[in-house]
Amino acid sequence: MMSSQASDIVEQIVVVKVHEGLHARPAARFAKLAKTFACEVELWRGEAKANAKSSVKLMLLAIKENERVTLRAYGDDAAMALQSLAEFLANPEAGLENSSEVELQPITQHSVQPLATSNSIATNQRQGLPISDGFALGPAYSYFPAAIVIDQRGLDAADIEHELAKLQSALNAVQARMSVSLGDHNISAADKIIISALAELIDDRDIRAEIETEIQSGKNAVASVDLVSRRSANALAQIEDAYLRARGDDIMAISRQLCLELQGKADIDLSNVPNGAIVVADDIGAFDLAKAPLKNIAGLICGVGGTTSHIAIIARAHAIPAVFGLNQTVHEIGGAKTIAINGRTGTILLDPDTRQVTAFNQEAGQFQLDREKLQKFKSVLPKRGDGVIIEVAANIGSLDEIDAAKAAGALGVGLFRTELLFMLHRTPPTEQQQFETYAKCLRAFAPDSVIIRTLDVGGDKPVPGVDFLKEENPFLGWRGIRMCLDRPLLFKPQLRALLRASTEGKLKVMLPMVSDLSEIIRTKALIEECQEELRKEAVAFGNFELGIMVETPAAVFQAAEFAKYVSFFSIGTNDLTQYVMAADRLNASVAHLNDVANPAVMAAIAAIAEAGTKAGIMVGMCGEAAGREDLVPKFIAMGITEFSMSPARILPIKKLLANSSH
Ligand code: PEP
Ligand code: MG
Repeated sequence: MMSSQASDIVEQIVVVKVHEGLHARPAARFAKLAKTFACEVELWRGEAKANAKSSVKLMLLAIKENERVTLRAYGDDAAMALQSLAEFLANPEAGLENSSEVELQPITQHSVQPLATSNSIATNQRQGLPISDGFALGPAYSYFPAAIVIDQRGLDAADIEHELAKLQSALNAVQARMSVSLGDHNISAADKIIISALAELIDDRDIRAEIETEIQSGKNAVASVDLVSRRSANALAQIEDAYLRARGDDIMAISRQLCLELQGKADIDLSNVPNGAIVVADDIGAFDLAKAPLKNIAGLICGVGGTTSHIAIIARAHAIPAVFGLNQTVHEIGGAKTIAINGRTGTILLDPDTRQVTAFNQEAGQFQLDREKLQKFKSVLPKRGDGVIIEVAANIGSLDEIDAAKAAGALGVGLFRTELLFMLHRTPPTEQQQFETYAKCLRAFAPDSVIIRTLDVGGDKPVPGVDFLKEENPFLGWRGIRMCLDRPLLFKPQLRALLRASTEGKLKVMLPMVSDLSEIIRTKALIEECQEELRKEAVAFGNFELGIMVETPAAVFQAAEFAKYVSFFSIGTNDLTQYVMAADRLNASVAHLNDVANPAVMAAIAAIAEAGTKAGIMVGMCGEAAGREDLVPKFIAMGITEFSMSPARILPIKKLLANSSH
């Protein structure tokens, strides 16, 4: 490790060994790990850099396995952060050990000793990969669905029509089951996204036509489904894009459902898991897990390593302690009556004796205590000297982050980045899908407000379904509100979804990248158009406050005028810094200039705060600087009253504000 000029800046070059590189899931885990540290961390790939705490930005760096990258951290715990993050990147298993610590113990660096040292491993102890933090002790619930036997017997010509009809009814039956799941209120929005992806595959006409061709050539329906699914999954496996490659698993999951349906067999499912059970399986398809009553699952043990599996993501999102990578030993583990699972160390005890149970309960108790200590500042409602409440809210990018935000005591959401919703789909999410997502978020935080930012994408972060021309300077190009206003077919469904969702809680909507008054006026006109349409269609909708991100110098200089048209400002310090300093936030060579604490940026922030407070509207901040303990008191003195940050930053900032007067 080498130190650069400033004593609290550290850098390290790392060769990325994460299997398949930093695609969606490892990027999310890496960002979560980064967020557990107070310091700012950047990840550089050549000349391009990303904030290590933003999974979207990390994904866009498209870092591949075996690439050299540079980690750079600024702040008190920079050295510790670098060590931990470098270990993650150097781990082919996508740093599962590290990411598991992030989920439930986001702030302290507390470490628990394993149950037994290598010198004294108990005979009933098994070691796996810690996937999701936490402790659980409960009855084992084995989940080993039988393999599907493919009968290769051919068909007589006379049977072909009948076999085609069988295929059609199997497709209908599987599709109907999915529709039921999609309408089930107990299934989370995130899980429904996965089910929708599977449902889309069932609807894939090409795959259907291929299966029918195989049947017409004389193969039975089960063999045809299996053959075509494998062929498609193998073809996807060759593609460079990791997201598309992972769709191969989805195809095989659907194939299984269809084959069982054709064979008239019911799959074992997890819908009957008893409360408090530890589920033991080789692997669990995302669709199967989505059907399970997740609240009943106390722990999860899998044979697969699962670095790219949906199931690891779901376990973490639902705070289910999980240990993976046990390979064939899962069958022996599933035979135990009681299992103790330590999701922090990856240790499992089969039928623990009284002494082991006592020790385990002690550790679990300590774990709980530590978490509770972290929660000490959760309900702090910071106030300024004059009694004005300082709102400490959360930045989120998906519904999966709601729990972490609430656990940290977020007073609502100050920035919901909607890009992820668009990036994770092959086509833009529908108005209905967006409505459900926004509504759920609003309900979760009501009566506190949720600020949802309209789509902020551009040439630097493209989304499927929008054609971006190659631009010389994407940061100065067709992005954010500029692109949305030019693409009403994309923008209006989002505005309509927001209007509809606003009946579900306290919604505020903000526009990114505003630089001209006409953008606010045109958006307001579009909102009115949407209201008119909804009225005509007799679709219920409410109203939301409209605000803007102030993140361009143009908006700073026009803040007083813009304030007459909007209900609030939220300062986007990440972009504001790059535009004020003319220092690309992705360019390593000008990193020293990309500094929010530079007097020029601080003056811009003060000007925005002054314009907003004079106009009597709320001035908040949702860039990374909102979570900086060294700067927040200065921002409060400027008149900023709302700070929105990643959930992991909330408690330290609340602590700071609880212990100081402003
Ligand atoms: C910002 O620019 O400060 C901001 C919050 O938006 P993003 O980082 O998503 O551009
Ligand atoms: Mg921005």
